[in-house]
Amino acid sequence: MQMIGCFLSHLLWLKVKMSLVGIGFLSCIHQFVTDRHGLTIISDRHPGIIQAVRQSTMESGVAHRFCIRHLRDNFKKTYKNVNLVELMYRASQRTMISEFEETMRRIEFMNPEAWGRLNRVRKEQWTLCHDGGRRWGAMTTNKSECMNNVLKGARGLPITALIQQTFYRVNDFFVARRESGQMTTSSFMPRLNAKLMDSERECQQMRILWYSLERFGVHDRWNNPYDVELKEIASCECNVPKLYHHPCSHVMVACMAIRVSYKDYVSKWYTTESYCLTYVPEFLPVRQKGFCPPMNLTLQPPDERRKKGRPRNTRRRMAMDERADHFWF
Ligand SMILES: [Zn+2]
Repeated sequence: MQMIGCFLSHLLWLKVKMSLVGIGFLSCIHQFVTDRHGLTIISDRHPGIIQAVRQSTMESGVAHRFCIRHLRDNFKKTYKNVNLVELMYRASQRTMISEFEETMRRIEFMNPEAWGRLNRVRKEQWTLCHDGGRRWGAMTTNKSECMNNVLKGARGLPITALIQQTFYRVNDFFVARRESGQMTTSSFMPRLNAKLMDSERECQQMRILWYSLERFGVHDRWNNPYDVELKEIASCECNVPKLYHHPCSHVMVACMAIRVSYKDYVSKWYTTESYCLTYVPEFLPVRQKGFCPPMNLTLQPPDERRKKGRPRNTRRRMAMDERADHFWF
């Protein structure tokens, strides 16, 4: 069985062995992985997963999104034109609907059949600008793929060694993150801090027009206007606050103008406190065999006999298995 779920607030990246997929798939996740509501599942476009999630999500309000790398790999197999694939990838990453539509017009001009094919996929499932903030900006299943690195080497071992390796490596993973969380003194973890600092620097080249105490027009350094509203939640025409749940540089400019901290508009899930809470659960040491309570259990060998020789690897290698520097984007 292979099933990896990673969490950042309400996101769930799935790498699922297909035998697990079926009716009741989501109820198994709710039962064994998390009981949170409003989950978003990011997966590839395997028909089995699509059908299972569709059947399971009717009542639970779960959103299903596609991994854009898987989508792009499939698109690349049919359409060999590098520029067309690049445009498709760009269309998926656009945060503004006007920019997305402009990119789609270019795709239609270049290849009407590819344009028609993309239009048959529901926009909220593959484009960031139509996502409504359910992805938190995550376009791929990379977070679950990165668990492969954590568990590297913990395969092809005798069962006891395999369980021990998995246990100790996941424990190390938690300990390292617990330590880095404790050493962080800022309100947010370094990665988001750096992003916010970049946006703060951009603010210096912007102009602001006041329309009211809540509504502003912000012009960036290229004189592009953005409509900004600061209410209970911040909104901006660039769509970044809604999609990523943290303020863009335009919102920051407006916050500075009315002397409000832009940090108030950063989601609580980005705080160092939330990060630390993720890794609070501790693993208990495994006791020596002699200290374990006796069990009246006789383990039977498996019914199947393993065939001679090395088992054939049936995993299909995709572009994402290649080294990162082989990508052209
Ligand atoms: Zn903005």
